[in-house]
Amino acid sequence: MLKIKLHWQILIALVLAVLYGALFPNYVEYVSWMGDLFLRALKMIIVPLILSSIISGVTNIGNAENLGKLGIKTLTYYLSTSLLAILIGLFLVNIFQPGIGADLGLSKQVEELGIAKESFGDTLINIIPVNIFESFLKGDMLSIIFFAILFGFFITQIKESYRVNLTNFFDAFFEVMMKITMFIIKFAPLGIFGIVAVTISQQNDLLQLVQSMGLYMITVLLGLAFHSMVTLPLILKFFAKADPWLHVKAMTTPLLTAFSTSSSNATLPLTIDAVENNSGVSNKITSFTLPLGATVNMDGTALYECVAAIFIAQAYGVELTFVQQIIVVITALLASIGAAGIPMAGLVTITIILSAVGLPLEGVGLILSVDRILDMCRTVVNVWSDSCGAVTIAKTEGEELKV
Ligand code: ASP
Repeated sequence: MLKIKLHWQILIALVLAVLYGALFPNYVEYVSWMGDLFLRALKMIIVPLILSSIISGVTNIGNAENLGKLGIKTLTYYLSTSLLAILIGLFLVNIFQPGIGADLGLSKQVEELGIAKESFGDTLINIIPVNIFESFLKGDMLSIIFFAILFGFFITQIKESYRVNLTNFFDAFFEVMMKITMFIIKFAPLGIFGIVAVTISQQNDLLQLVQSMGLYMITVLLGLAFHSMVTLPLILKFFAKADPWLHVKAMTTPLLTAFSTSSSNATLPLTIDAVENNSGVSNKITSFTLPLGATVNMDGTALYECVAAIFIAQAYGVELTFVQQIIVVITALLASIGAAGIPMAGLVTITIILSAVGLPLEGVGLILSVDRILDMCRTVVNVWSDSCGAVTIAKTEGEELKV
């Protein structure tokens, strides 16, 4: 049977949904259930997915940290480049404001949500749950993340036999959650069809919608371009004293693969090969930094998550306070660490940010339609940043490279 690739299926669904919503606005109730089911399925997996991905991520970093100096250097690189990427996104989305005036017919829904604008102090205090099971039930992301990080960290502090058991358990748990996620994502074309048809049918001004989505994409793409063509090359040049141009050339195959597969994990073998054989980094460094980077270091995803969350807030007419913007920055960092290196993972973990600042998860429906192309581009940046990290760390360890 002819197998159409998922991104083509999504594209076709998108076109059909726009036609359906525009031509038959009164009949969207016949297809809206597909979108509802898809969003329900995403919500269903979010708590166990986040829990298992953070615990398994932290235990792996924790175990890796025992490698000492190399571990600390790697983590510093990962966290600071992701943070820089987020700040670029935050800056651009506040300048371009793609969602402002989008009039997507969403603002009225928010009034019913009664978003609690907590003070900074309260937000901090509430991160520590009085009852973690209540947090699971309510989907209190910050508390769940806090608990998961603690749990993951202390797994690395217990005696070997227990540690191995629990690490394996959470790795396996995470893998099952990923399988379920992939299974749900197979239904994305149907879900997108339902969601987009409804969104389109509610539009009075279609041109406005296209304009807002276009501006949103441009904001993300500009940010990604700046981070990959300015920030990371500057780090290569000044911290690693390497030649960014030579390194890009060395990385052509993995970068193209990242673009076409939208998966850092799938690209990993090629990344390792290119960084070792073309850029000349030792296996000691690549074997440690690159697999870890493919799962925890996602600059492109982090930038995208920040822009997308604020875009959604703007489209819903919610003005985020300063504290809420800080929460977006922190949770975008966590969401990018929590995202697995597979297609559309960032789209799932963005729910962490939305829940943390009290935005409706339905907002995902808004950005879903253009996610695939952004996913391809952010994955390139994710892989590029991992490779720049390996080169930077190798150079600071005194290795002689080819770049
Ligand atoms: N697809 C991305 C990656 O594999 C993750 C994401 O969805 O942002 O790196």
